[in-house]
Amino acid sequence: MCGIVGYIGKKEAWPILIKGLERLEYRGYDSAGIALMNDRAFFVCKKKGKVVELSKFIKNLNKEEIKKNLSGKIGIAHTRWATHGIPSDSNAHPHLSNDGTIAIVHNGIIENYLSIKKILINKGYKFKSDTDTEVLANLIEDVKKHAKVSIDEAVRLALNEVNGAYAILVISKEEPDTMVIAKLGSPVVIGVGKNEFFIASDATPIIEHTKKVIYLEDGEMAVINNKNKKFNLKIKTITDKTVKIPYIHQLKIKIEELEKGGFPHFMLKEIFEQPESLRNTMRGRIVLEKGNVKFGGLEKFKKELENLNHLTIVGMGTARFAGLIGEYAIEELSGIRTKVEYGSEFTYRDVATPYRAGLIAISQSGETADTLNAIKKAKRDKMLTLGVVNVIGSTIAREVDAGIYNHIGPETAVASTKASTSQVLLLIMLAIYLGRMRGNLSKNKSQEILKEIEKLPALVEIILKNSKHIKQLAKKYKKSENFFFLGRKYNTGAAMEGALKLKECSYIHAEGCNSAELKHGPISLIDKDFPSLVIAPIDSMYEKNKSHIQEIKARGGIVIALTTEGNKELNNIADDVIYIPKTLEILTPILAFVPMQLLAYYISVERGNDVDKPRNLAKSVTVE
Ligand code: GLU
Repeated sequence: MCGIVGYIGKKEAWPILIKGLERLEYRGYDSAGIALMNDRAFFVCKKKGKVVELSKFIKNLNKEEIKKNLSGKIGIAHTRWATHGIPSDSNAHPHLSNDGTIAIVHNGIIENYLSIKKILINKGYKFKSDTDTEVLANLIEDVKKHAKVSIDEAVRLALNEVNGAYAILVISKEEPDTMVIAKLGSPVVIGVGKNEFFIASDATPIIEHTKKVIYLEDGEMAVINNKNKKFNLKIKTITDKTVKIPYIHQLKIKIEELEKGGFPHFMLKEIFEQPESLRNTMRGRIVLEKGNVKFGGLEKFKKELENLNHLTIVGMGTARFAGLIGEYAIEELSGIRTKVEYGSEFTYRDVATPYRAGLIAISQSGETADTLNAIKKAKRDKMLTLGVVNVIGSTIAREVDAGIYNHIGPETAVASTKASTSQVLLLIMLAIYLGRMRGNLSKNKSQEILKEIEKLPALVEIILKNSKHIKQLAKKYKKSENFFFLGRKYNTGAAMEGALKLKECSYIHAEGCNSAELKHGPISLIDKDFPSLVIAPIDSMYEKNKSHIQEIKARGGIVIALTTEGNKELNNIADDVIYIPKTLEILTPILAFVPMQLLAYYISVERGNDVDKPRNLAKSVTVE
């Protein structure tokens, strides 16, 4: 994964690059680095740790060093999430080639790097890092020397030798007015300014400089160089076919949407944004009079959707848990048999494709490599591919046949909150859409659900108003080292999401489990130090869940019950009770998510963790 940024133009590059890296830190943050072109010389600085370590170092340079090193107007930078080689100064990017003439930053994995490395070592090349990326830097140098070609041609020829995934930015001391950009499998966006270009893994570092962007396609490379004081952009494929400069997109995102807006962390801001994000998710899509849902992006495929016989939902992490809830909703409301799989597993499984089958790929970033690969496989198998994606113009959004956007603005905290509730809502709305078009769902029933959906933002508001109670619970449970999250039916997926939220932010071991499954093994873990949060709203599963709570209490366990407002019964059984407002059973997971997010957030803050950037993680997982 990792984030890359580049600048080429008339301004000092380093402040633009550092700010860009800060915006991309959600993609990885184990080390960061920068390379600036200073008059046919490079200034390279790499630091283990977050971007702040790099910026601290640069800002502490003395005046003379600043003058000498930081004046470059062309530069590349990187915030890393290690795949090959531990996080360290030497493994951090940019990497230089052996003779120091070429600098590169890379997002992705060069799969055949070892065999190339061997050949290069035999030719006398020395390596300073354990990364696959440094191999590519040296391969480019080697090709350039032997073929006696320009830097862009050397990059192109070298890329023809490698397998894997990459978004790369390359600069060379020998051609100090040129930047080469190439992409296969990892994202890269080029911002087009006034005689300057901004390049990044996504649009967030670009937005404050220009709203005009070009999305490079897989197998394409862009060459930017300076001719007569004017920077020109040319695009070609790595097979050397010229590409017409593609359509320039106009970004609509606002810069304030990227900032914390007064909250101490992005995660809390995003939790509190959920009334708004749910409203935005449903905006313009509910046609109450007809008991229907409108999805503009699906219109073209109405026939295929009407005839669908089987659906597979793929996603990873939170997206897959949203899928587990969607599976219940789609089967119940549309009658289509539905299965949820890890994107990573679907790709490599050798199963017969059912007749008239479709795939729903869920990914907040739209860049999740495992999910993207599943889409590619589904396409090979002639399945209809649909996306539920937040980032507009992302790879998955462009790859699927048709899609639905969350429309919730950028999600910055690594732990997903507002995207998760939006994903569940969209899947329920999709279930209604499919159910209505296939005659499986009556207008009355659909209207009943849609009316309740419209109330969701106000109900989430109520939960957020009671966040103080969860804050107190966080103080009480912050020292627990284990946690169960339990639920049934729709809330099985919700329980798994609750556990994921807690473990990823607080580093407390947490397991999400179907409540009925507990007594088939996991219950042996229960003791007085092992709390269980049981999602037990008043619904068709309530009596069963009540028995599960009793079973835990009978074994000396601690129970936090999450139930419907007004239900006093559990006060006498459970140790603590969290209330959510009354809604339809199918919508309870959306409400249940919110207090579990708050609990994970407050416990993590209590434990002194870096909530927005939990250790070992990255927001968008663009490697397999
Ligand atoms: N494979 C490269 C490395 O380990 C890039 C990693 C990435 O894209 O996250 O440094």
